[in-house]
Order: sequence, then C-alpha cells, then structure tokens
Amino acid sequence: MKPFAYVNPTNEKEAVASLSPDFEKALPIGGGQDLLARMKDYVTQPDRVVNVKNALEATVTSMNGGLRIGAAMKMVDLAEHAQVARMYPAIAAAAIEVGTPQIRNQATVGGNLNQRPRCWYFRNEEFVCFKKGGNTCFSPQGENQFHAILGGGPSFIVHPSSLAVPFVAYGATFRLAGPNGERIVPAAEYFTLPTLENVRRENVLAPNELLTHVMLPAPGNVKSGHYEVRYKASHDWPIAFATVLLAMNGTTVQSARVVMGAVAPTPWRSQPAEQALAGKTITEQTAAAAADAALRDARPLSQNAYKIQVAKTAVKRAILRAAGIGTV
Ligand SMILES: Cc1cc2nc3c(=O)[nH]c(=O)nc-3n(C[C@H](O)[C@H](O)[C@H](O)COP(=O)(O)OP(=O)(O)OC[C@H]3O[C@@H](n4cnc5c(N)ncnc54)[C@H](O)[C@@H]3O)c2cc1C
Repeated sequence: MKPFAYVNPTNEKEAVASLSPDFEKALPIGGGQDLLARMKDYVTQPDRVVNVKNALEATVTSMNGGLRIGAAMKMVDLAEHAQVARMYPAIAAAAIEVGTPQIRNQATVGGNLNQRPRCWYFRNEEFVCFKKGGNTCFSPQGENQFHAILGGGPSFIVHPSSLAVPFVAYGATFRLAGPNGERIVPAAEYFTLPTLENVRRENVLAPNELLTHVMLPAPGNVKSGHYEVRYKASHDWPIAFATVLLAMNGTTVQSARVVMGAVAPTPWRSQPAEQALAGKTITEQTAAAAADAALRDARPLSQNAYKIQVAKTAVKRAILRAAGIGTV
C-alpha cells in the first residue's frame, strides 16, 4: 500500500477542509470496507485519508414528517432502526442484505452510497480502463456476466450500492457539504450515467465535497416491496434487484415507483413499468407485464443476457411483495 497521511477531524468543516479539489488526492473514509481494499490493491492511491466517522452525524432524526440520516451511521444501525423499518421498509430490507454482519458493523451509509464499482477490470491494477484514466472499457470484449444491461457505455459497470435503489425510490435527497457551503441534490440526480467527460465518476460529488445526510420525505400511504436475486444465499452483491412502491386506491394502483439495481451504472428507474402498473389491480399477470416493460430496452452484452430474466423476476416479485400477494 502506498504511504498516506491520516486525518481525524472532529467536525464537518474541518473534514471538508482536509479534502482536496484534485480527484482522489484526499479521500474520506467511513468504515473503510471499500476504500482500504482498493488502496491495498493499488487501484486507488490517495495521499491523504480523512476519517469522517468523528466529523459527521451517525443518527436518525425526524424532519418534516420524514427522516434525516447521518452519513456516518453504520449499516447495522440503519438495518435495525425501528423507525426506518416502519416508515421505509424497503430501506431496512436493503440494508440487512448488505455483505455480512462484520461488514455491516463497519460500513457507513455515506460509504455505501459512494463505494466504487465492483467490476473486476476496475479492481485489477493491471487493467487501465476508462475508470482509471485509460481509454477503453474491457468488459464488452471480455468477461461481462455481471455488467450492465441498461444504460451502459462507454463504461458498463453496474452501480454497487444496495441502499441507492430504495433511496431513489423513496425520493430521498442528499446533503453535500463543500468549501462553498452546502447543496441538496435529489438521489435520482446524484448518480450519473457514464459519458466520455465524466467516465471516472459515478456521481456528481466534487472531490472536495462530502455527503453528510440523506433526507427522506414523508413516506405517504405507500406499500413497498424489495427483492434481491443472488447467486448464493450468502455474502455477495445481488445479480439484480428491485424496489417497488405502490400508492393504492382500494385495490387499484394509483401510481407506482419501480427502481432496479445491479442492471445499470446508476439505480435504474423504469417509467414503462410504472405506467404498466397504473390503474391496474396487482395480479401475477399484471406484475409480469410490468416486469417485461421494465426490461424492454435492455441491451445485454455477450455473456449477460441471462440477467434480463433475473431482473424481470426481481421486479415481478418486488411488485407482488408490495401488494402482499403470494409467499415470495
Ligand atoms: C463480500 C462483500 C459483500 C458485499 N455486498 C454488498 C451488497 O450486497 N450491497 C452493497 O451495497 N454493498 C455490498 N458490499 C460493499 C460494502 O457494503 C461497502 O464496501 C460498504 O458499504 C462501504 O461503506 P464504508 O463506510 O466501509 O465505505 P468506505 O470504504 O469508507 O468508503 C467507500 C467510498 O466512499 C467514499 N466515502 C466514504 N464516506 C463518504 C462520505 N460521507 N461522503 C463522500 N464520500 C464518502 C470513500 O472515499 C470511498 O471512496 C459488500 C462488500 C463485501 C466485501
């Protein structure tokens, strides 16, 4: 590992001042579950690491009928938070599935949302891909079983954060703090699709900004379902997953929110699926039709066409869970 300086600020202002406007020169560290692994693998080599756990809030507070979550909150505390589980069940469901108990004991909300892609080319120092300043993505011609089937190119990573998906579904906003003060960004606009200009980044956070809080609006009267499909029932990232919110008028869907994870470089909201659900009663058939609509525009790579069916299953089962149908 390259030698680095370690800074331990005790408040947000000091933490921001310890960062750098230069990309990856100084990096915040939460639980270190992602950053330390990248540093040990020489994928990321900051000169300075800034501990944010003593500088940012780690609590949940009520705000305008919703909740405000501090970015330093540990995943285990989020997963076990009774108010979060009651008001936003899909967030608790996503949090409890992340990694292992050990990982959830260390990892923070801010770190989870800002973790870097799991693409094996990105994680291998030998491959200088777009994300490391190179001029290619190796996955289209290479091993791409777990890569994007929607929204991919020029990089085909999938976004690795499980929390990002329900946060987008519930309409969360993120508070960012930088040298010029704070800004509030909707979660749906925080995560960015790759373009040649921004291909090294997965979000709009500037190198000298911190994500300090997640703000969740009042949940309203919605039913929610969250469903993840994994290769094995142990610690691993999902192959595809979905969060579904349903606002009901009796037995009819008034409006729906369908967001998928692990299928695209960002959490992927599907308006075709939402439109397919509006005005319908939820049955196996209407859920399957919405799942088909969600994947209508999928463009698989050479080895990941199977993910289309996996993602359809995740969407369908999340819809059925939200509607309280069946045993899935
Ligand atoms: C076996 C295994 C299985 C896993 N399965 C899953 C899974 O299913 N779903 C999932 O979501 N994750 C999964 N993970 C990843 C793990 O959850 C993340 O690595 C962890 O949540 C990152 O949190 P952290 O606080 O440790 O982040 P850190 O490693 O401290 O930081 C991660 C990144 O975020 C930046 N960062 C940290 N805090 C902030 C902040 N406040 N503002 C701005 N940037 C910040 C850091 O600079 C760094 O680049 C898995 C990991 C392993 C090892």
